[in-house]
Order: sequence, then structure tokens, then C-alpha cells
Amino acid sequence: MKHVLTIGEILVEIMALDPGNGFLEPISLIGPFASGAPAIFIDQVARLGQPCGIIGCVGNDDFGELCLQRLQADGVDIGAVARDPERPTGSAFVRYRPDGQRDFVFNIRHSACGSMAASEASQAAIRGCDHLHVMGTSLFSESLVEMTTGAIQTVRARGGTISFDPNIRGELLELPGLREALKSVAMLADLFMPSGQELFLFSQARTESHAVAEVLDWGARAVVVKRGTEGASYFDREQTMSVPAIPVREVDPTGAGDCFGATFVTCWLRGMPPERALSLANAAGAMAVLKKGPMEGVSTMGELQAFLEAGEGRK
Ligand code: ATP
Ligand code: MG
Repeated sequence: MKHVLTIGEILVEIMALDPGNGFLEPISLIGPFASGAPAIFIDQVARLGQPCGIIGCVGNDDFGELCLQRLQADGVDIGAVARDPERPTGSAFVRYRPDGQRDFVFNIRHSACGSMAASEASQAAIRGCDHLHVMGTSLFSESLVEMTTGAIQTVRARGGTISFDPNIRGELLELPGLREALKSVAMLADLFMPSGQELFLFSQARTESHAVAEVLDWGARAVVVKRGTEGASYFDREQTMSVPAIPVREVDPTGAGDCFGATFVTCWLRGMPPERALSLANAAGAMAVLKKGPMEGVSTMGELQAFLEAGEGRK
């Protein structure tokens, strides 16, 4: 089985119990939950039974311990996760507004996440993988861009494949050089997996089909567009297909894109036809929103199959 690797932030998420605007007064919170887009992604890959690992860094504290225990319990190789003795584990406080938008307080760049650096363990993990998944959120410092682009070269040189989810938050795009770094990663990806408008991040195209054609011209084998409650679409040189979202009662949308991406990548690496991979990924996204907490909605392959088979009869 192909070994999947990702590089990036491992952090805890602490959530407001009630919707409202930000954190300007004392409120009730729940957490810590293990989180971080690459961490959620790789945890979902592991749950599907695929061998996988993550390169990251946590602090020498309970938040770090909680994340590592969770990842390890689900089957993620954490041998390339460093421990920073000085900086605390990254964190994100999140509160939903009544309109579904989110307010965040992040401690990522100046946490242990920001002290990620190449090591013997990280080099070994890069040499040992068949597929590397890159999240745009993880390119928040020059050293991370350097480490990630180096890893992409190594994996490609060894015949491995790359997937890329731009997963961009507005404030990150302001970082100097980030847009260029994202584009250079996008141009090397075998699978490009944007959410909605992210498809147009690196393109002058006005229509979706032109933007997709541009990415396929760079050499991507497929483009998979996530559309939240509108479902998802798949494009390659021969075919285009879409699935509507599975109607569910959304409890917490965080992590849907990561679970979707992890499932699509895993199915694709296993050689499944794209319609099956898309349908299982769509199910993983729907199951992810059913649970409160960013990583709590991950599923096994058996659970995804049962969820799809239950059809209209599912709860
Ligand atoms: P995030 O980065 O917040 O994890 P995203 O923007 O990358 O999310 P989405 O498009 O929100 O990704 O979700 C990914 C996929 O999950 C969608 O394409 C869809 O298949 C499924 N999904 C998301 N939200 C819902 C929902 N409310 N109901 C059913 N399926 C959903
Ligand atoms: Mg996303």
C-alpha cells in the first residue's frame, strides 16, 4: 500500500459553545480538540487504513501530548513530529457567528508549529513516502515553504505523487511571497483540490472550465473542486463529473474539506475509479460535519460504505 505523508501544523482547537461575535467577553468553551488541517487530513487517511505519517512540531505540554496520542491511536506515524522544549503547542480558538462565519484567535506562527525544521527523522519520512499532501495553510513561513518544496522535489524524483489543497485563509495571503509559493506548489501537483473560488487563485480565467484546463495544462492529472453544501466535482482530461452533497444536519463544518481530501487521495492511490473516489470523499465530508470538533468526524472505509448504502434511509 502506498505511504502517505503530510507536513504542517498540529494544534489544538478550543471552541465556543454558543454562536456569537468573537471573544470580547468571557464565554463558555469546549476543548481542547486535536486539530490543524494537515493533522485532520492525515488522521482521516489513517482511519481508512492507509499507512501514513506527518512531519510537524508540538510543544512539551498537554496540548501536544493530546494531539500526538490521538494521531498515534488512529494509526498515524508520528516519528517525524518534533517537540519544542520552549514554545507551546499551537492553538486556535474558534467561535461561530449566527450567520455561520467564524471568528478565530490563532497562535500558530509563534507556537511550536513555527519552529518546524528539517531533521533526520523528517528527511527519512520524506524518503520513505509514496505520496505527499500539501496544505496551503502550512506554508506560513519561509522555512516551511523551503522544507515543503524540497520534499516535493524528492518525492517526485522518486516517482511519487503530490496532492495540493490551497486551503487558504485571507490573512495568510497577505504574507510576503505566499501567493507565489502556493502557485509553484500548485504547478507541481498531480491532484489539485481547491474549495470553490480557490480554483481561480492562480488563474486569469473567467470560467471554471478554463481554469480547470489551465491546471490540467500544468500537468495535473485531475482537479477536484469542493463546494460545501453544493457537493463536489472531478475533472481530468477525459471526463468531468459532479456529486450533490449528501443532505445531513450540519453540526460543525470544520474539517469537512480535510476529510473529503484525505478520502479522495486514499481512494485515488488505491486505483479506484474517480466516480467511486468522489462518492466516498463526498460521504466523508458529510460525515465530518455531523460531529462537533475538527477531527471528531473522521470515518473508516466501512463506515463510509455503510453511510452511502443507507441512502435516503440514513439518520
Ligand atoms: P474546510 O477547509 O473548512 O475543512 P473546505 O472549504 O475545504 O472546508 P468544503 O467544501 O466545505 O471544504 O467541504 C468539503 C466537502 O464535504 C464538500 O465538497 C461536500 O462533499 C462535503 N460537505 C461539506 N459540507 C457539507 C454539508 N453541510 N453537508 C453535506 N456535505 C458537506
Ligand atoms: Mg478547505
